[in-house]
Amino acid sequence: MVDPLLGENEPVARATKTPTLTEHERRYRELLAEIGEIGFIRSGSVAPRFNYCGKPNCRCHADPPQPHGPYWQWTAKVDGKTVNRRLSEREAALYQEWIGNDRRLRALIEELRAVAEQATNLVLDQVVKV
Ligand SMILES: [Zn+2]
Repeated sequence: MVDPLLGENEPVARATKTPTLTEHERRYRELLAEIGEIGFIRSGSVAPRFNYCGKPNCRCHADPPQPHGPYWQWTAKVDGKTVNRRLSEREAALYQEWIGNDRRLRALIEELRAVAEQATNLVLDQVVKV
């Protein structure tokens, strides 16, 4: 059954339609707006650490060993060197929030780059046609 207005290929073409430049632009602005909402960022990672002390009869040397901790530790690369910092419970929570923001920011930028590549390809296509 052929639609007299649309023609028989139209529904297929519509189903496989790639986003238009306008749609790319909308998504691009959305991503930029999301980036604008992100709080402070911080690099590195936070992980629990366990310690073994110097006292030979301590529980941390028992069998099975019961190490001290967990303590929270922030680790990051600063000028090519690995830096560690012992954190309080409160500091660890803050670092985790900021590090999460940083991860989110990088994911958004990655998507932003992908959308921009599609959009700029469409712009370039138009330049060639004119
Ligand atoms: Zn110990």
